[in-house]
Amino acid sequence: MAAKGWKDTHDERGVGALIKVLKFGGTSVGSAQALDRAINIISNESAKKAVVVSAQSGVTNSLIAWMKDDTQEIDSIISFLETKYFEPVKNKLDETSKQSYENQIRESLLQLRKLLERYRNNLENSLQDAIASWGERLSVIMVSSLLNAHGVDSVPMNAEDAGIVALGVHGNGSADLDATTKNFRKTILPLINCGKTPVITGYYGCGKDGKPITFGRGGSDYSAAVVAYAIAADCLEIWTDVDGFMTADPRIVPNARTIKEMDYGEAGELAYFGAKVLHPRTIEPVRRKKIRLLVKNTFNPEGSGTLIHSLRSPGKTLLRSVAIKSDLSILKIYSSEIAYQPGFVSDLLNAIGEDGVTTYAISTSLSTFAVVIPTSEVPQALKKINELKESRMEKLMVKNNMSLICAVGDNMIDTMGVAARIFQVVEEAQANVELISEGASDIALNFVVPSDRATDVVRMLHDRYIGG
Ligand code: ADP
Ligand code: ASP
Ligand code: MG
Repeated sequence: MAAKGWKDTHDERGVGALIKVLKFGGTSVGSAQALDRAINIISNESAKKAVVVSAQSGVTNSLIAWMKDDTQEIDSIISFLETKYFEPVKNKLDETSKQSYENQIRESLLQLRKLLERYRNNLENSLQDAIASWGERLSVIMVSSLLNAHGVDSVPMNAEDAGIVALGVHGNGSADLDATTKNFRKTILPLINCGKTPVITGYYGCGKDGKPITFGRGGSDYSAAVVAYAIAADCLEIWTDVDGFMTADPRIVPNARTIKEMDYGEAGELAYFGAKVLHPRTIEPVRRKKIRLLVKNTFNPEGSGTLIHSLRSPGKTLLRSVAIKSDLSILKIYSSEIAYQPGFVSDLLNAIGEDGVTTYAISTSLSTFAVVIPTSEVPQALKKINELKESRMEKLMVKNNMSLICAVGDNMIDTMGVAARIFQVVEEAQANVELISEGASDIALNFVVPSDRATDVVRMLHDRYIGG
């Protein structure tokens, strides 16, 4: 029996069968063994489907590291990528398919080589996103070739061919959902409807000028949500390297548990405030069309994973999950009676946000205004604030090495004593609370502590209120 909301999406795209989008992250396409698992998962899926893939893990980092020091040998990064993409596939294709696959990878690497040369010679200053997206371009060739060898009729598609339209700044763009939907009716849906499986690049879309714009690190989850939106899929499956959305990052809290069911709001808050398992903007496209989102483990497909949808059964625990976002700074602006100068506060916020700087929390008092932003974006924010030439500003202070902790629970706002119990643990962890944001969200309490105490706070909160 189809859940409510499914019929509407079927009507919209004009087909009756179930459609899924399956996204595989870096580790899930990063080794011969992982690829076997991913290909099995895709070929065992009986629904009509589109696949979205990331670069193999480590590849985007290497491309970005090369751009940071472009005196490094172009030959070595090209041969590193060649090995990365030849090795895990070498025993999986027959001789003819292998030749054809290797030729496609070599051809793609030839294009990359030209871009790297142009980048090094400063011939164009907007090549960063094109270069950073190269791993995804190689991955679609790889996954599509393996699927074809497995009898799944598959087509590799770059975001440009598929028509993922991107807006906004390079390195931190967003998708134009309506324009992408229009394009997908011509490019992707016809393929799916005739039984083919398109394999689409994650991480970036195509700007108005035709150039790639990436969606920020980890952006392939968001790409997959955009694809799911554009084809009005019934379900989006994010296949990753952990058993689902967990009560905390298992690298910090080894006894973290998988959360069976979440609602969109809860998952969205946690992803925004640091739960790396989902890119922060993944939730919005699927929430808008009520597309069910399933987070699953490629290395344990039998596990139930986490189902994220519009409603979930209410729980009874004080906390459900804790996330941590590091590499943040507090920017504090002092001005006497700033509270009586609302125009000044909005000028400051506009200036800080002008270049797409993300503000994670805000706090005001009579004479100070504090914002929490990524440390890497402090120079941009300071430049913009200084451009205001604001005589009312008396002092500006930056505190680095800050982490924001996001604690999510049921009815945080309506339950008495939640904040007191949380901050008691923070004190026991000997962490000083530098800034608090509570009340904006009904389900989350966020606060900032120095980074050297932050993981202890997360572990202790998890131990005390969530448990193993
Ligand atoms: P992928 O390459 O599949 O996109 P990522 O490395 O981007 O995978 O995200 C998965 C990682 O997210 C996990 O290995 C885990 O360490 C981290 N993570 C952080 N917070 C959480 C959480 N609450 N639940 C699950 N994983 C989390
Ligand atoms: N490959 C990109 C990154 O490493 C996108 C992704 O993996 O989601 O950030
Ligand atoms: Mg990821």
